[in-house]
Amino acid sequence: MQPVISQIKYNDHDIDILRLDLMHEGFQGNKYYKLKYNIEEAKDLGCSTILTFGGAFSNHIYATALAGKLHGLKTIGIIRGENDMHNPTINFWRENEMVLRFISREEYKRKDEPAFLNKLRDTFGKYYLIPEGGTNKAAIRGCTEILSGLENKYDFIFCAVGTGGTLAGIISTPNIKSKIIGVSVLKGMDLLTEKVTTLISNNNSNWEINFNYHLGGYAKYDQKLMEFIDQFKSNYSILPDPVYTGKVFYAIFDLIDKNYFSPGKKILAIHSGGLQGWDGWNYRFTNK
Ligand SMILES: *Cc1c(COP(=O)(O)O)cnc(C)c1O
Repeated sequence: MQPVISQIKYNDHDIDILRLDLMHEGFQGNKYYKLKYNIEEAKDLGCSTILTFGGAFSNHIYATALAGKLHGLKTIGIIRGENDMHNPTINFWRENEMVLRFISREEYKRKDEPAFLNKLRDTFGKYYLIPEGGTNKAAIRGCTEILSGLENKYDFIFCAVGTGGTLAGIISTPNIKSKIIGVSVLKGMDLLTEKVTTLISNNNSNWEINFNYHLGGYAKYDQKLMEFIDQFKSNYSILPDPVYTGKVFYAIFDLIDKNYFSPGKKILAIHSGGLQGWDGWNYRFTNK
């Protein structure tokens, strides 16, 4: 796969955008890299079923359903909360033949407990487990390939941070020279920096997580962000997703406004995909 890069300009600063959103429709973005070696490992272990966890609008569940379909693997999604027959995201999972089990928020908290996982084994048989959000060793290994060929071209590289798996992979890129800045889209993640430190596979310390742009938390937004996304789309013909990359581009532009970057610094933003999330977003915030 050849990386596609779009070049944009904002206030005399050039910004390159790595267009992971242009990869396979649906199976686009960082989720492709996060699942790549998990699928390989499941197959190597002779596991024909993948089981994983997520919320009702999860991009990770979406990508897992699609990847399972493409690779002939059965997928099981253990979903937090109630079924909603009108939710387009859930309907897509179903169309891709994912088996869905909806559980209460209370029960969902047990998702990492061995006893709970064993019970699921009694119900569903042998499965390959991918944790919520898809972050594990195999996922991080996949994400070390995102920057292939771009290791020393930039002074700054920006990416969105949810569970931190993608960021950990990017930090672990062999021979990476750039300063890496993760933009957290969640609130109250005081331990995220420590968590990412434990996930990285080299001793790169040239990175940080910026916690100033979550706008109140996961999938939280304000009018300014929505206007920014509209403007961005019409100025550059690139559509960010509302949950992750919208906040990353917003952060970069705000940092430029605040003179964070000295002139001539080379900036790369990773568009990690997630565009299918707009269906769920519109359903959730505009149609109801
Ligand atoms: C899942 C996702 C992320 C966050 O990835 P993590 O590895 O959980 O930090 C970023 N961007 C998009 C578009 C995503 O779907």
